[in-house]
Amino acid sequence: MKSYREELWFQTKERRAFINITPLVEECVRKSGIKEGLCLCNAMHITSSVFINDDEEGLHQDFEVWLEKLAPEKPYSLYRHNGYEDNADAHLKRTIMGREVVVAVTAGRLDLGTWERIFYGEFDGRRRKRVLVKIIGE
Ligand code: ZN
Repeated sequence: MKSYREELWFQTKERRAFINITPLVEECVRKSGIKEGLCLCNAMHITSSVFINDDEEGLHQDFEVWLEKLAPEKPYSLYRHNGYEDNADAHLKRTIMGREVVVAVTAGRLDLGTWERIFYGEFDGRRRKRVLVKIIGE
């Protein structure tokens, strides 16, 4: 069995952002040389997510509005976590949107559904953060 590991780094200008990382993960699969296997992709931070959904701007705005209803950023005093930090909402948003995805690798490609794309979800950005890509197979 072969295994491949790569870290993808991000630094967003805004506190929150959704980035389509599908091409970057595809490139990892290509570099791995693995034709049949599994690709794990996870945020390595507790205030960001990796998830699969549609690459559609309206939906991304809907996610933003929905997440702000569930866990609004402000007022910061709303949360017990916000003593030395102001990112309690980001921890909660990350939990809702998930930590990782696993995608089958078939014939050397990510075996995604027609409209499935892999996203990095940033909820407390403006600093360097990373995503782990681990691919196993043969
Ligand atoms: Zn925190």
